[in-house]
Amino acid sequence: ILILGIESSCDETAAAVVKNGREVLSNVISSQIAIHTLYGGVVPEIASRKHIEKINQVIEQALEDANVTLDDIDAISVTYGPGLVGALLVGVGAAKAIAYAAKKPLVGVHHIEGHIAANYIEHKDLEPPFLCLVVSGGHTHLVRVLEYGKFEIIGCTHDDAAGEAFDKVARAIGLGYPGGPKIDKLAKEGNPHAIEFPRAKIDGSKYDFSFSGVKSAVLNYLNGCEMKNIEVNRADVAASFQQAVVDVLVERAIDAAKRLGEDKIAVAGGVASNSALRAAMKNGCEKNNITLYYPSPVFCTDNAAMIAVQGYYEYMAGTRSGLDLNAVPNLKIGER
Ligand code: ATP
Ligand code: MG
Ligand code: FE
Repeated sequence: ILILGIESSCDETAAAVVKNGREVLSNVISSQIAIHTLYGGVVPEIASRKHIEKINQVIEQALEDANVTLDDIDAISVTYGPGLVGALLVGVGAAKAIAYAAKKPLVGVHHIEGHIAANYIEHKDLEPPFLCLVVSGGHTHLVRVLEYGKFEIIGCTHDDAAGEAFDKVARAIGLGYPGGPKIDKLAKEGNPHAIEFPRAKIDGSKYDFSFSGVKSAVLNYLNGCEMKNIEVNRADVAASFQQAVVDVLVERAIDAAKRLGEDKIAVAGGVASNSALRAAMKNGCEKNNITLYYPSPVFCTDNAAMIAVQGYYEYMAGTRSGLDLNAVPNLKIGER
C-alpha cells in the first residue's frame, strides 16, 4: 500500500510517499524559515502564500523521488488540523483536487497524531499501546496511544507549549527564530545549574504542564541584569532554562508511565530533537526499565512522511474523508 502524504499546517510545505506505513520512499520538505526569520516568527498570510507557490512542485518531487506515479498511489492523506487555517487550506485543497482528479481515497489526518506516528518510521517494533510525550511548537501533551487511531490525553500544558517557550526565550536572548535548535546548541557551552529557574507544578494535576512561569522568570532575570548593569551569560541562561524545562518534562513522563504501568515511552514533536531532553529521558527510562523511542530530527519537526504513516493506519482502519473535508484549526486529538 502506497500513501501520498501532504502537510502544510505551519511553515513547512511537505509531501512524502510511504510504503506499508513504515517505509519512507520520499520525504520532501520546503521550509519557509528563512522568510519568517525576518519577522521573528511565522506570519500566517505569508505562510499561506508560500504554500500555494510551492505545493505542486513539492508533491511532484515526492512522487519523482519515490519513483512512482499518481497511478501507483493507493490513498492521499493530508493534515487538516490543527494549525493555521490559511496554511492548512492549501494542503487540504491540493489533496482534494488530486483525490478527485485521480479518483483516489482521501484521508484527513490530525497533525499531532502525525507527530506521534513519526516514531513508527524508524522503530519497526513499536506498536500501541504506549505513552507519548508530545512536545512541539504549539502543543505539550502526555498521551496514551491505545491503538493506532485511539488516544487518551492524560495531561497537557495550561499555557505555553514547550517549543513556544524555547522560541520566546531564544528571542529574548537574541538568538532568533526558530529558537529551539539555537538554545540547544548554545546550552552546550553553559552551566545548567548556574541560574535557578522555577519548575512549575499545577495544582490538582499530576500530569499537566505550565511553561509561562519559567519563560517569565527568564525575562525577569534578563531585565534584572540590565537594570543592575550586569553582563548576561547567555549560554548559562540557555542551559539553565533548558534544564528547567527538561526536568519537568522527564519527571512528569516517567511518573505517568510508572503510575499507568506503561513500559514504553515515545517522544514526539520538534522539541523531541532536543539533545538535553533525549539524554535525560534516556537516563530516566533506563533507571525505570522503560523502553524509550524518539524519531530522527528530520522526522521530529514538521514533515509529510509522518502524515502518510498515520494516514496509512487510518486508511487500513477504513477511515475515509469526503471532498467536503475542511481545515479545522483547533482540531482535538482523537477527534474525527
Ligand atoms: P505543532 O506541531 O504543535 O502544530 P509546529 O508544527 O510549529 O507546532 P514542530 O514542527 O513540531 O512545531 O516543532 C517546532 C518546534 O520545535 C519549535 O518550537 C522549535 O523551536 C522546536 N525545536 C526544534 N528543534 C529543537 C531542539 N533541538 N531543541 C528544542 N526545541 C526544538
Ligand atoms: Mg515549522
Ligand atoms: Fe508540528
